[in-house]
Amino acid sequence: MRKPLVMGNWKLNGSKQMALDLVTGLKKELTGVEGCDIAIAPPVVYLDYVQKLLSDSKIILGAQNVDTHLSGAYTGDISAAMLKETGVTHVIIGHSERRTYHKESDQFIAQKFGILKENNLVPVLCIGETEAENEAGQTEAVCAKQIDAIIDLLGVKAFNNAVIAYEPIWAIGTGKSATPAQAQAVHKFIRDHIAKLDANVAQQVIIQYGGSVNDKNAAELFTQPDIDGALVGGASLKADAFAVIVKAA
Ligand code: PGA
Repeated sequence: MRKPLVMGNWKLNGSKQMALDLVTGLKKELTGVEGCDIAIAPPVVYLDYVQKLLSDSKIILGAQNVDTHLSGAYTGDISAAMLKETGVTHVIIGHSERRTYHKESDQFIAQKFGILKENNLVPVLCIGETEAENEAGQTEAVCAKQIDAIIDLLGVKAFNNAVIAYEPIWAIGTGKSATPAQAQAVHKFIRDHIAKLDANVAQQVIIQYGGSVNDKNAAELFTQPDIDGALVGGASLKADAFAVIVKAA
């Protein structure tokens, strides 16, 4: 049985005060919740602060990005080892916002995936199609290509102890979530695609849904057999809404 993972992606939001209020609220709302892994990914400058706030909690610390270099003359970059030393265990890579605004390619994201695995960090690989690709019937082809970039570089076993977040780009931050049936169809496609190479890897890989998940639509999404939790943006900034999503999982 896969244990679902609900992860909050704060994106470029927050402050120390907001982190304090949100984490305090989450710890209160989520005490004693079992059966679901919970993670939050604040902006990198707050990781150390949030790690201290989480020291008496089971909430997992995540990061929103990693760079491919290990050390050296790379101004502004942050290494996997630095994230790990700060207490991070899960790292989001391949988010559509980074693919778009930072021109990150499938191959570059695969390198990041490899760096995380080498450092025993759990990659949370975001994949998903644009609205135009969706309307052109290319959803499966796009998802397969984004997954195959990892398999080509690292082999299918790299997906052991890894997370995939299926996030249709047209659903991110738009309030227009995929329907449970739509999401389930793509999640099943992703799992079957991996199963063609390794059934065991496919069976254990966590496949989250992301894109306008909120306290109203989460429960129905989580009834689907291949949806193992969610990557949550906007609704992860409110303790009560995020707690409802976690409890639904
Ligand atoms: P959203 O973002 O929940 O605000 O749609 C999800 C994400 O981008 O991870």
